[in-house]
Amino acid sequence: MSFNDDAVQLTNDDASSCKLSAVQRGYWKDSYISFFYENPERKSPEISIGYYTRVHSVRYLLKEFIKKTEGNCQIVNLGAGYDTTYWNLKDDSLTPKSFIEVDFPAVTMKKCRIIKEQMDLLEKLQSEEDDIQLSRTEIHSNDYHLVSADIRELKQLEAKLQSCRIDTNLPTVFITECVLVYLDMEYSDRLLKWISTKFPTSAFINYEQVNMEDRFGEVMIVNLKRRNTELRGVEACQSVDTQINRFKRNGWKNVECLEMTNVYRNLSTSEKQRLEKLERFDEKDLLDQLLEHYCLMWANSDSNSVNLSDVTI
Ligand code: SAM
Repeated sequence: MSFNDDAVQLTNDDASSCKLSAVQRGYWKDSYISFFYENPERKSPEISIGYYTRVHSVRYLLKEFIKKTEGNCQIVNLGAGYDTTYWNLKDDSLTPKSFIEVDFPAVTMKKCRIIKEQMDLLEKLQSEEDDIQLSRTEIHSNDYHLVSADIRELKQLEAKLQSCRIDTNLPTVFITECVLVYLDMEYSDRLLKWISTKFPTSAFINYEQVNMEDRFGEVMIVNLKRRNTELRGVEACQSVDTQINRFKRNGWKNVECLEMTNVYRNLSTSEKQRLEKLERFDEKDLLDQLLEHYCLMWANSDSNSVNLSDVTI
């Protein structure tokens, strides 16, 4: 664990704070996020719309994956932070066989404590209550697992996934939401290759920075450096093509990547109107600039023909 790793863990607080601020202002509904974070600073409408587009599009792909596999699947969220997708999917009655979250122990310890304390979270875990195994940093129930691991250490990660009884032959979708960019390329390449080799029917959702070579990108990098957070994997975030290439060279057959500007554009007109009316919003250019610097990636390898390639962003 390095100084940079400590700073990287704090990025989870930033993400939670932005998500809660947006939820409090009605951008989307999430009954669980306020258990994980309190009193967020108010964020600008552009940031809230950016977060809405991120959460909405990642969840859309997850739901399509669950429907396609009729729930006979697994979800693995790497660098999950305080993500609340498991509980939100439960409310939508869209559940995979197993939902696994991985993060550094300092983060999973806090998440574990909050889940243990909040009945609304704990009671959603599928299990006879006695069957839930809770330790300081980990939780195992029938369908939800929270484990601590450094995702750069593949042996450790593999052992932890095995402790969740992961089945490498079941369709599995991996998520990294603003995570790979904090890993040196050597580590993210190894991780992507390992997953594509180990899981014959799998998909990958990656959300992170893109187009980082221009002035706006440079400012983002400098701001993070000020907070001791280095974007070590930024090489892969130069363009949509560099993002696609890193997945292709690591064994992913079908790869699609869209700038968030396009993802936002594809939302229905009525939804965009709703979002843009929630608060006084007159910085359309700033929203465009922000969305241009993030992308959503959907990759899949479909050896067992679940027709994952029918799913598109
Ligand atoms: N994915 C969550 C979300 O979108 O709300 C959290 C995003 S936060 C920006 C990045 C998360 O990745 C942090 O919780 C951090 O601890 C985790 N992370 C970064 N590098 C990691 C590593 N090597 N092993 C495990 N977790 C890691």
